Amino acid sequence: MNRMQCYRLGVTAAVLSVLLGGTGFAQNGAPAELSPAEQAGAQQGFRITPVRPIAELRAEALKATPPDEHGTFERSELVEFTDRGGWRKLDIRYASANNFLGEPVYEQARAFLQLPAFSALVRVNRKVREEGHGLLVYDAYRPWYVTKIFWEATPENKREFVADPAQGSSHNRGCAVDLTLYDLKTGAAVAMPSEYDEMTPRAYADYAGGAQEEREHRRILREAMESEGFVQRPNEWWHYDYKDCQKYQILNLPFDRVPDPIYAIGKGVSAPKILNREEPSFTDDARIEKVQGNVMLDLVVGADGNPRDISLVRGLGHGLDEESIRAVKQWTFEPAKKDGNPVAVAISIEVGFKLYPSHEPVKHLSVKDPSVPKILKRTDAEFSDEARVRKIQGSVILDLVVGVDGIPRDISVVKGLGHGLDEEAIKAVKQWTFEPARKDGKPVPVKIRVEVAFKLY
Ligand SMILES: [Zn+2]
Repeated sequence: MNRMQCYRLGVTAAVLSVLLGGTGFAQNGAPAELSPAEQAGAQQGFRITPVRPIAELRAEALKATPPDEHGTFERSELVEFTDRGGWRKLDIRYASANNFLGEPVYEQARAFLQLPAFSALVRVNRKVREEGHGLLVYDAYRPWYVTKIFWEATPENKREFVADPAQGSSHNRGCAVDLTLYDLKTGAAVAMPSEYDEMTPRAYADYAGGAQEEREHRRILREAMESEGFVQRPNEWWHYDYKDCQKYQILNLPFDRVPDPIYAIGKGVSAPKILNREEPSFTDDARIEKVQGNVMLDLVVGADGNPRDISLVRGLGHGLDEESIRAVKQWTFEPAKKDGNPVAVAISIEVGFKLYPSHEPVKHLSVKDPSVPKILKRTDAEFSDEARVRKIQGSVILDLVVGVDGIPRDISVVKGLGHGLDEEAIKAVKQWTFEPARKDGKPVPVKIRVEVAFKLY
């Protein structure tokens, strides 16, 4: 006979809730560009008199070659800021005449950043939102030839404010951003100690003059940026380099030749759908220490539906971060689509780990105790129509026995949600398969508790 070992492990088999909101959390698709009135208000900016005509400098710069760089570099993966809904504004000054040269240098008003810097900026935006601000981006990736135009056009005594093309700018590497804050209520840029690109000491990050409110805005921006790994340039309050910027090579691609853009979910870009997911397991360490919570990951789902560039945003330690990354690496997706074609998108995922109080005292696992069964295949529970209409969310908790064959049986509801969701949870879990628990190397049946989360996004 099959002796049933009834262990209540008091542990969910790593239940996931997945946020497919994109990293941007678009609010309501509010326009990202400045209104004509705002544009007009910003018209009278700081100007220099170019030492030679821009058209002439441009023709020369396009023929010149960036400095040779040696070593190994990170693969460039520029993410474009467009299609992101209302979480920020773009005011790409170099694509208009409203810049320190007084004429456009970019042909397109677009902004790109290397993926890790982009993801970090999205997190900064979440932080400043809490204080009623949004990020207003003036410039990000800048092709090298534009840096050369700036340098050649700028008089000697102002060159501390422009990068030497012989070294290249961190903007050329795609990991610098020029930005300020705007007021979420009015949509207007906040007052800062100087204008953008103003080539005077008022631009210095430690400039002590100006109104207190202006310095306070500068401090808010700086604290939020630094908390996510950006470093402010000492002589320009608006300029931030992302850490390890030198890992990327100088690029000289015009915006219309940036390869394989990575999109964000939102306007016209659908979310990727999880086809197959590998479940992460609790580590013994995390179980003993009773660690719970969510591991948050940023990643790109390629046009091929495979996840890549997985990075940890917020971890739990105790081996759970590594375990989450290992599992998510094996997920497959139906790729996101734009105009019917598969495209790569940047998304965030939360992997949840939760421990449950058990009815019986939780046994400390030892070699004599069975291991936890591991979920091999998981089918997601569907929302019932009724639950969707009534916007019911929460978790259904089930007890079940995982047999030596890895098949779940004796499924019972411990805590239900009603509205048809308990039945949906059971229906889904019935289709799961497990690697059975083991004791002394042999598969054994065990009783476990799982949580099936229903969440509307
Ligand atoms: Zn800059």
